[in-house]
Amino acid sequence: MKRKQLQAGWSGLSEEILEAVAQWRAEHPKATMREIEGEIDRRLSALRAKMLSDTANASASAEWEAADGVVCPECGAKLVKKGKKKRELLTRDGRKIELVRDYGVCVACGQGIFPPG
Ligand SMILES: [Zn+2]
Repeated sequence: MKRKQLQAGWSGLSEEILEAVAQWRAEHPKATMREIEGEIDRRLSALRAKMLSDTANASASAEWEAADGVVCPECGAKLVKKGKKKRELLTRDGRKIELVRDYGVCVACGQGIFPPG
């Protein structure tokens, strides 16, 4: 994913969050400091998770493309791309994000790996 696409996705979600918080504030004029903080954290955590997953996915695919032939850590032979695999991870604040990684298999020894990243 290119930088402009990443930023466009984040801007879109940021706008939604800003609007939602303003809306929430209008509906909760007597909210306490703690309640406001909780609401803002909850909303921002969605943006945080999206930025984290987009960035991690973008660097993983860039590394595979940059490395002209990723080699097997076991025997040093070239890996053959075997498509993509998904992994689910939890962010520090407990949101599920999905990482999509290219997956390779060594033709020499059969070792299957995700490239570094
Ligand atoms: Zn190997």
